[in-house]
Amino acid sequence: PPVIVAIDGPSGTGKSSTSKAVAAQLGLSYLDTGAQYRAITWWMVNNGIDTTDPSEVAAVVGKPEIVSGTDPSAPTITVDGVDVSAPIRGQEVTSRVSAVSAVPEVRARITELQRSIAAASEHGIVVEGRDIGTTVLPDADLKIFLTASPEARAARRHGELKGADLHTTRESLIKRDTADSTRKTSPLAKAGDAVEVDTTNLTLQQVIECVVTLVEE
Ligand code: C5P
Repeated sequence: PPVIVAIDGPSGTGKSSTSKAVAAQLGLSYLDTGAQYRAITWWMVNNGIDTTDPSEVAAVVGKPEIVSGTDPSAPTITVDGVDVSAPIRGQEVTSRVSAVSAVPEVRARITELQRSIAAASEHGIVVEGRDIGTTVLPDADLKIFLTASPEARAARRHGELKGADLHTTRESLIKRDTADSTRKTSPLAKAGDAVEVDTTNLTLQQVIECVVTLVEE
């Protein structure tokens, strides 16, 4: 039967790199759920929606068509046929995504999309996010919760964002994690049956090996 792996945790814990590598090594599909929330946020920004107004956001939630490509060696994301993989990583989207993802109608729509993608995966899938083990796929075969110290997380994110200031990166990362952990609908949380892996003092390769071993057990 297809194997379902849920990988949750805050930003900068190595979730994406780990999830992609584990999926590639095990021949599984891969889904970046953060990219879906970023994509719907990108569409809202582009269409002049006030992302601080939950009712305005909720009213248009069904409009954009969001499609995720699940090949771990070349994941893609499109909105109404347009490749948005670059613009969804920008500051504009990053600063607004937590507010958009806190709207219950947004979560309901994106969660449904995630479940249908997972159900369609032939050999199984690695799904990374914030609420996968708790809400989206509570019956996953393996649930991993990645953590790391705020310093390590900020340093990693800083390394990815060329030119950004470390202090600013740290502040915005903490702000986003606080918003994601305290929202009312399916917040960032560790499932009761998740295995917690603290990546602070591990290399990416060590984290990948650890998760692959857990899947194979
Ligand atoms: O993983 P990434 O940092 O790209 O996620 C962007 C944002 O999308 C998160 O900060 C969070 O607000 C939202 N998100 C979510 N639930 C998920 C994945 C991401 O609310 N499962």
